[in-house]
Amino acid sequence: MTAQTIAIANQKGGVGKTTTTANLGIGLAQEGKKVLLVDCDPQASLTISLGIPKPDDLSVTLSTLMGRVLEEAPVNPGDAILHHEEGVDLLPANIDLAGMELRLMSAMSRETILRQVLEPLRKQYDHILLDCMPSLALLTINSMAAADRVLIPVQPHFLSARGLEELAKSIDRVRRNINPRLKIDGILLTMMDNRTVYAREIASLMRDNYGRRIKVFDVEIPHSIRAAEISAEGKSIYAHDPKGKVAAAYRALTQEVINLEKQREKHKSDPSR
Ligand code: ATP
Ligand code: MG
Repeated sequence: MTAQTIAIANQKGGVGKTTTTANLGIGLAQEGKKVLLVDCDPQASLTISLGIPKPDDLSVTLSTLMGRVLEEAPVNPGDAILHHEEGVDLLPANIDLAGMELRLMSAMSRETILRQVLEPLRKQYDHILLDCMPSLALLTINSMAAADRVLIPVQPHFLSARGLEELAKSIDRVRRNINPRLKIDGILLTMMDNRTVYAREIASLMRDNYGRRIKVFDVEIPHSIRAAEISAEGKSIYAHDPKGKVAAAYRALTQEVINLEKQREKHKSDPSR
């Protein structure tokens, strides 16, 4: 087993990265996959939303492990990994990760420290999902360097387009210089309010503009107060509102991601290509 590693990234804040990481991850676990979620954000929203209200009390987190790599000391990821009752594992973060950005600046191989932390874990999971912070700083570059693919949650907003160009440039740069295997899985439209004509218009503009270059997932995540409630509850949308439209959307996203992987596998093993 070698884990498919997916970075959930967008330097714009509040677009649904953390919500998508948690619910795609738990969705994959419900399909029988072994899943590790990695909180790569010093805000620790993923850690909090998976039921750890005070991440700063954790003694071993992602930043501890990255620090061990920097010190060339042995890394035991198992010391940091927590188990969530809905069947996923979590490599948590806390505010200590904020200091890591500075430490990385002067480090050797500063872009690949996270990759080195995750390397031994790739054999233990089917999927590793990386919840990125809202910036294109070194920690996010580390996530892209460690990933096979990037999934980009985007809110249907007119100003999103510009940020996407920036993000695409960063992804290109990482691919050219550090991680040639990096691909873009696609753009995921989140917090869609289908009652407004505006949201629909922006969504179809994005499908027209990007659809040819970058896949836009068929499924759109609807805006719903139900989704906003889960971060405080420490559980997924499947546990909180199993029959709701957001749970249905995240189930559909899980299927799209699994289908994409199957297609890729087929292409790889097809000798005529
Ligand atoms: P950040 O950039 O700060 O890390 P993010 O991109 O990870 O943010 P989230 O934390 O997932 O975004 O979501 C931002 C806020 O929107 C949260 O309060 C979350 O509960 C809420 N939210 C997420 N998805 C939805 C949705 N489909 N409908 C309504 N609210 C949502
Ligand atoms: Mg987040």
